[in-house]
Amino acid sequence: MPGPTEADVAIVGAGYTGLWTAYYLKRANPALRIVVLERELAGYGASGRNGGWVSGFFSGRPRVYERVGGHDGFIALQRAMFATVDEVGRVLAEQAIEADFVKAGHVQVALDRAQAAHLREELRSGRAQGLTEADRSELGPAELGLRLRVAGARAATFTPHVARVHPAKLVLGLAATVERLGVTIFEGTDVSEIRPGRAETPAGAVDARWVIRATEGYTASLRGLGRALVPMNSSMIVTEPLPASVWEEIGWEGREVLSDSAHVYAYLQRTEDGRIAIGGRGAPYRYGSRTDARGETAAATVASLRAKLTEMFPATATVRLDHAWSGVLGVPRDWCISVSADPSSGLAWAGGYVGEGVATANLAGRTLRDLILGEHSELTALPWVGRRPRSWEPEPLRWAAIQSVYSLYRRADRSERRSGRPSRLGRIVDVLSGRR
Ligand SMILES: Cc1cc2nc3c(=O)[nH]c(=O)nc-3n(C[C@H](O)[C@H](O)[C@H](O)COP(=O)(O)OP(=O)(O)OC[C@H]3O[C@@H](n4cnc5c(N)ncnc54)[C@H](O)[C@@H]3O)c2cc1C
Repeated sequence: MPGPTEADVAIVGAGYTGLWTAYYLKRANPALRIVVLERELAGYGASGRNGGWVSGFFSGRPRVYERVGGHDGFIALQRAMFATVDEVGRVLAEQAIEADFVKAGHVQVALDRAQAAHLREELRSGRAQGLTEADRSELGPAELGLRLRVAGARAATFTPHVARVHPAKLVLGLAATVERLGVTIFEGTDVSEIRPGRAETPAGAVDARWVIRATEGYTASLRGLGRALVPMNSSMIVTEPLPASVWEEIGWEGREVLSDSAHVYAYLQRTEDGRIAIGGRGAPYRYGSRTDARGETAAATVASLRAKLTEMFPATATVRLDHAWSGVLGVPRDWCISVSADPSSGLAWAGGYVGEGVATANLAGRTLRDLILGEHSELTALPWVGRRPRSWEPEPLRWAAIQSVYSLYRRADRSERRSGRPSRLGRIVDVLSGRR
C-alpha cells in the first residue's frame, strides 16, 4: 500500500471470505470504493491450499444454530448451503473462472465396522435434522463399485451436495475478477489492528466506513483477538498423475469427492490432471496460536496420509508423491460459524468455518453484502448472523485441551479398529470439546 488510504469498505484478508464479500458488494454497488488488505499474497491462506471440497455441509452442532433460529432456522441455513454449491458453480461459469469445478457429490466410506456404525448414526441424525433420502442415502456395494473401488469399504453413503474444485485456481480467479470489477487488492500489507473506522498498517491507516475481518486461522495475530479463533492445522499430499492402469483399478470416473468415517478422517479428491489429493489432520495445533509460515509438513504426517491412501487404494502403493503442504483452519470455541456486521461501529467479520469454509465463505460473503448494505433478506435472518462465540481459554490450557482432544480421537480410532465397535471415548471427546 502506498500510504494512508480512504475507502468505503476495507477488507482484511484476501482469501475466499474477503474476496467473495468484495465481489458481491461491488456487483451490488459498483460505486463503492473497496480495498482488500492482504499481508502476503491473495490466496496465501487456507483458500489457496485446501482439499477443494465445495461442500453444502458446514461445521457446528445443529442445536447451537437452533438456539438462535429454532429448527426452521437451522433448516434454512442447511438449504442455503446446499444452494451455495450451485451458486459457486454459477459465478465461476459467468465470470469464466477456470477452476476445475465439477459437482458430482460426496462418497463417504466406512473402512471398518465401527466406521460403518458412525455412518449409520450420521444418516439417522441427518434424517432427524430434516435431510431426505435425496440429500443423503446409503450406497450399496454394487453401486459403490460402479463409482470407485475402495479396498475394505464395508458401507458407504452418497450426497449430491458437494462439488470439487481446484482451490488455488478458484481463489486466484476470484482475485483477478474483483480487480477487474474495480476492487483494489494491496498485497504485502500487514494489518496490526482493526478499530471502528480504521485498519492500521505499517504504511499508514486505512480509514473506512466498514472494516471487515476475513483473517480466519490467522486472526490471533491481530491486536486484542488472540483468543477468538484457534488456528488448527490440516495437511495434504498429492500424488503424481496416475497411470491409466491404476485408474482402471480404481474407477472414479465421476470425480466425486471421497472421505472415510474415522474421527480423524481423511478427505480426498481426484484432480483434473489425474492425481489423487488426500488430506487430514497432522499435528493439530501450535502453542500460542502460532501459524507456520511456509506450510511445511512433518514427515510423520506425510507418512500417515500416504498409509491411508495405500490402504484405500492399494494400486497406488508405488506411485510418487509430488507435493505435501499444510495450512490453518479457523476454529471457534463452540465450533460454529459466525457472520456479523455492526452498523454502529462499522466492524464486520465472518469465519470460524473449521474444515468446511470453501462454500461457506461464499454464503458468508453474500450475507455480509446484505448486512452492510442494510438490506433485510433471507440471508441476514440465518441463525449464524450476529452470534458471539466465547473466547478460547488462555495458554497453556488451550494447548493442553486441543492436544488431548486429538490424541483421544486417535486413540478412539485405534480402539475402534481393534474392537470393530464405536468407542464411547470418541463420543465423550465430541461432547467435551464442544464439537457435538
Ligand atoms: C489443508 C486444508 C484443507 C482444507 N480443505 C477444505 C475443503 O476441502 N473444503 C472446505 O470447505 N474447506 C476446507 N478447508 C478450510 C477452508 O480452506 C477455509 O475455511 C477457507 O479457505 C477460509 O477462507 P478465508 O478467506 O476465511 O481464510 P484464509 O483463506 O485463511 O484467508 C485469510 C487471509 O487473511 C490474510 N491475513 C491474515 N491476517 C492478516 C493481517 N493481520 N493483515 C493482512 N492480512 C491478513 C492471510 O494472509 C490470508 O491470506 C481446508 C483448509 C486447509 C488448511
